[in-house]
Formats: sequence, structure tokens, C-alpha cells
Amino acid sequence: MSDHTIHQGQCACGDVRYTCSSEPVSVMACHCRDCQYASGSAFATVAFFPAASCEMTGESKAYTVKGDAGLTINRHFCGNCGTPLYSVATEMPDLLFIKVGSLDKPSSVDLQGHMWCDSMVSWLKLNDGLAQLPGNPPL
Ligand SMILES: [Zn+2]
Ligand SMILES: [Zn+2]
Repeated sequence: MSDHTIHQGQCACGDVRYTCSSEPVSVMACHCRDCQYASGSAFATVAFFPAASCEMTGESKAYTVKGDAGLTINRHFCGNCGTPLYSVATEMPDLLFIKVGSLDKPSSVDLQGHMWCDSMVSWLKLNDGLAQLPGNPPL
């Protein structure tokens, strides 16, 4: 861990760890179907970090899906414990989409909005006053 570390995180078993030397560009709850599958929940909470500011320790596994917006999304997870860690789009290699739940301090970043609300589950009632985008944000 460098002394410039602002955020750090890991998978549940600790085989894969990472540090980030910048604040996230943005933090969004993603309600797309892929994030529902990948998180096993109603939505994924994702912090967008400049890839150059992040350093990974340990080997993650990955699988690739075509995202709802047509991007090629490589979803990285721990091969031992299965924790979803981050995704990176082949078309946008400069951004890592890190799962906020894997941060050592998930409360250290602030949620800024909801994306892919077109596929949000019907029983979820949002009352946080944040933006609710139908699809991807303009990045
Ligand atoms: Zn693990
Ligand atoms: Zn998503």
C-alpha cells in the first residue's frame, strides 16, 4: 500500500486486494440486469475509478458479457471466494468500475445517482432524492 492510498478494498477471503490513489469519478447504483446477476441482488453499487490510480494485488478471475449498452464488460471476481470486485469495459480501459461493497470502508464514498432504472425491480422504492437515469450516464 502506497502512502498515497485514499481507498482500499478486498474480496471476502483476502486473496485479492487493491488500493486507489484517487477519489472516484462517480458513484452509481446500477440496476441493469447484468449487475443484478453479478451481485445476486436488486442492484450493484459501483464506484468509477481512473484505472491508472488503482493497483491490484492477487489474481482475479473474469468473465465477459455484452452490457446493456453494447459495451464489452469484463467482470472480475475472486476465484476463491467469488466476491465480485470490479468490471472494466474493453472499449473504456481507463475506468475501473469497483464494487463499493468491496471497499474497506463502503461509507467513504457518496452515492450520486441511480442508473439503468428501466430495469429496476418493481418493489424497490427509492427516496434518496438522487438522479434516476433510465440507462448509462454520460461518462
Ligand atoms: Zn476472495
Ligand atoms: Zn449494471
